[in-house]
Amino acid sequence: MLELKICLHIHTNHSDSISSVEEVVDSARTKKLDGIAITDHNTMAALDDPLICNQDLILIPGVEVKTWGRARPGFRVEEASTERV
Ligand SMILES: [Zn+2]
Repeated sequence: MLELKICLHIHTNHSDSISSVEEVVDSARTKKLDGIAITDHNTMAALDDPLICNQDLILIPGVEVKTWGRARPGFRVEEASTERV
């Protein structure tokens, strides 16, 4: 069985975190994660950051949207990278 360590709930300074995309990627590497899902609030702008491309991490596109007073992350799985680049 293949087991992957992927953090599915990460915010960047594109919404309410102080961490840049570069810091998020560096942190993921330090933690030896296999992949990340950046789920900023109501924006997927971090995915346009050039630093997110060409990383040795699986990237799952995501966004956190507010529904009925609660915030929930959602993912665009069909566009998630399936191999490391
Ligand atoms: Zn969140």
